[in-house]
Amino acid sequence: MNAPAPASRIPAPLWLLAELTYRCPLHCAFCYNPIDYARQGAELSTAEWIGVMRQARALGAAQLGFSGGEPLVREDLEELVGEGRRLGFYTNLITSGVGLTEARLARMKELGLDHIQLSFQDSTREMNDFLSNTKTFDLKARVARLIKQYDYPMVLNVVLHRYNLDHVERIIEMALEMGVDYLELANTQYYGWGLANRAQLMPTREQLVRAEAVVNAYRARIGNRVRILFVVPDYFEERPKACMNGWGSVFLGIAPDGTALPCHAARSLPGIAFPSVRDFSVEEIWYASGAFNRYRGDAWMKSPCRTCPEKDKDFGGCRCQAYAMTGDAENADPVCTKSPHHAQLETIVTQAQRAQAQGTTQPIVFRSDANSRRLGGGA
Ligand code: SF4
Ligand code: SF4
Repeated sequence: MNAPAPASRIPAPLWLLAELTYRCPLHCAFCYNPIDYARQGAELSTAEWIGVMRQARALGAAQLGFSGGEPLVREDLEELVGEGRRLGFYTNLITSGVGLTEARLARMKELGLDHIQLSFQDSTREMNDFLSNTKTFDLKARVARLIKQYDYPMVLNVVLHRYNLDHVERIIEMALEMGVDYLELANTQYYGWGLANRAQLMPTREQLVRAEAVVNAYRARIGNRVRILFVVPDYFEERPKACMNGWGSVFLGIAPDGTALPCHAARSLPGIAFPSVRDFSVEEIWYASGAFNRYRGDAWMKSPCRTCPEKDKDFGGCRCQAYAMTGDAENADPVCTKSPHHAQLETIVTQAQRAQAQGTTQPIVFRSDANSRRLGGGA
């Protein structure tokens, strides 16, 4: 562990995300899991996860997300949900729906699971099944009905990109027919498999403008009955997102092998030894580890962020994006128009669109164990 930052100035983690497994029956082209997921270490055991949950709750974490991969692949999910509730967490299951049988749902309801977020890839069977490289549309529709039947708020998440942005109206109609309470339309973030498929998934500005207009028209029509969130892709913005609300500020992610991360993609950053819950307590990791202290505050910032009046708002953006595009994680996120690298981002968008128009983009690389081993450098 490095010299600890003064713990009194570091807020407690609020949100514990337990990425229980990288195993998943789907093969999404935009999956945010790391490309080399198949090469990573053994998953934490039930007892180890329970230990992490207890420690994080003792530190003050209030929300607990179960994600993956597909968390339902873990047969101990119900036990973990039950323990999460006993500890007083607000519990959230983030799922593709595959594996959510009525028996499992009934059990999790009994145990007090608070919230379920179900993902769909599109409004049509063809596109949903193409993008996930599986035949799961009908199954997801059945799961959506079950979630309603068990009286959960219906929270639907659809990742958007150039293949489905023109279907936003049908996606919203589908969501309304399902009786959703909350619809998250999140444009693809280019990390993990999304980054590998960036040239294929990149939309045009016209698609985004049309889709946002459709969303706004629905919002005006249906009011507060259904909340629709439309997250614009970074690459078309002028200022970066306040990534994770600041590094090591509220979010504590634990990867399946126990590696603690300040954001999902942080493992892509070189030269940082991310600590494992197998070697350190959650308290040591959060307050004293070099990894979690690395980008807290603003002492690490370079120009133009260092003297920027907006630095308390966006914290210089995303370190992983800065590294992926500039080779230096301490640079301003190139999404920012004040970044000297911003033009690079515009070039990426233009090149992707040109390749799409000319039909010269590489085929989509679907997330699979074989592709993970091949691209992640494994045998
Ligand atoms: S994005 Fe798709 S492939 Fe990746 S974990 Fe989620 S459901 Fe599985
Ligand atoms: S220069 Fe840095 S701190 Fe200022 S707005 Fe851009 S990314 Fe944010």
